[in-house]
Amino acid sequence: MRKSVVAIVGRPNVGKSTIFNRLVGERISIVEDIPGVTRDRIYAQAEWLTTTFSLIDTGGIEIGDEPLLVQMRHQAEIAIDEADVIIFLVNGREGITAADEEVAKLLYKSNKPIVLGVNKIDNPEMRENIYEYYSLGFGEPFPISGSHGLGLGDLLDEVVGHFPEKEEETKDEETIYFSLIGRPNVGKSSLVNAMLNEERVIVSEIEGTTRDAIDTHLHRDHQDFVIIDTAGMRKRGKVYETTEKYSVLRALKAIERSDVVLVLLDAETGIREQDKKIAGYAHDAGRAIVIVINKWDTIETDDKTMKEFEANVRAHFQYLDYAPIVFLSAKTKKRLHTLLPAIKLASENHAKRVPTNVLNDVIMDALAMNPTPTMKGQRLKVLYTTQVAVKPPGFVVFVNDPELMHFSYQRFLENKIRDAFGFVGTPIKLFPRRRQ
Ligand code: GDP
Ligand code: GDP
Repeated sequence: MRKSVVAIVGRPNVGKSTIFNRLVGERISIVEDIPGVTRDRIYAQAEWLTTTFSLIDTGGIEIGDEPLLVQMRHQAEIAIDEADVIIFLVNGREGITAADEEVAKLLYKSNKPIVLGVNKIDNPEMRENIYEYYSLGFGEPFPISGSHGLGLGDLLDEVVGHFPEKEEETKDEETIYFSLIGRPNVGKSSLVNAMLNEERVIVSEIEGTTRDAIDTHLHRDHQDFVIIDTAGMRKRGKVYETTEKYSVLRALKAIERSDVVLVLLDAETGIREQDKKIAGYAHDAGRAIVIVINKWDTIETDDKTMKEFEANVRAHFQYLDYAPIVFLSAKTKKRLHTLLPAIKLASENHAKRVPTNVLNDVIMDALAMNPTPTMKGQRLKVLYTTQVAVKPPGFVVFVNDPELMHFSYQRFLENKIRDAFGFVGTPIKLFPRRRQ
């Protein structure tokens, strides 16, 4: 099912990122550990009662050195283009400013539902501040306090009430959904086109494609695939389109709907910092991953080239050690035929369930081979392991004390499970739990 998307807009300092963080809650993410970016997180999943939705903090999308008003205009445009419902945030301590009115003007023109949040209403006495905001023309203003977490429930009830009812994506479990991510010019569009023009695939357009992406159906060797192509759907002429944060936003939206994500790298230019960041998003989302080295036609190859390139990729993307690497050329179509089988394999492993008895035999063998660690005279005891999830596969390992499960030992068990069941292309997760 396609999740509804909510965007928060408003001038700087009204509290957009504070509200964003509140609604998203704290989630540990390897992406956030990448230093140097204070406001990296602009897109995340949030929940209200039984509804999950995607949330965008447009304040985190800076557009070059544009003046403030121009920035705000672009941010509002992004919200209008990307969101189903917009939260327009103002500062309840400062009254309506000229900048608020500028944002309001843009929002009037959109046909999207707007919910007006009046922030920094930290105590009940301040509630009377909100009446002047009726004059903005968005109906009832909702008093909230991002820093104290007040009023958010009422605001969210209103937001969720505006979600489109029938935007369901009936995802066929038999069909493999995949998307392509990578920095500009690695060849995403070229690769999509190459796949669509391949002789052995049957292509059909999908009706009711979402406005975010072009979904195209492929059929090959009795398997249905859907390519979620955001790169091909360029909103020509929009200034913000070339900014990095915006392309990250589009990539995250595509990743969310995918079973398998192709991380494209460019053999010609080699690996760049931005590649690692983009790959981190896919890993973080727990999707199956295939690394694609495109433009392989530009490399003079001998018997060692591929191995050397692979070693280089492995060194740069250690956390993606499970992802298979496919070398190809979108331009000449060389080795292109190896891609769909790799996607299929990764997807099957992503959804794979293993038998509990075999799983426990594997763990027993592992324990016998490498004794469990001790800490302060206590030895880790592994009692029982069971698979609790798929997409990606997750395993609960019942132990005497989860504190005793050292990171390196957990890694060792993970590798043993991988070796035994061949989870190529998918991350797997181990959750140590206490059982006496
Ligand atoms: P943004 O620029 O719109 O994303 O605003 P921020 O979330 O960065 O917040 C700007 C400032 O307002 C920060 O110093 C926040 O701590 C503060 N702030 C945010 N929400 C509240 C609130 O509900 N009450 C008060 N008193 N301060 C807030
Ligand atoms: P995107 O921005 O990731 O969608 O990249 P494009 O598909 O627009 O490709 C960027 C450039 O790389 C274009 O000039 C393509 O012709 C070129 N390109 C794409 N794939 C290949 C390839 O396999 N080999 C070579 N030599 N060039 C390629």
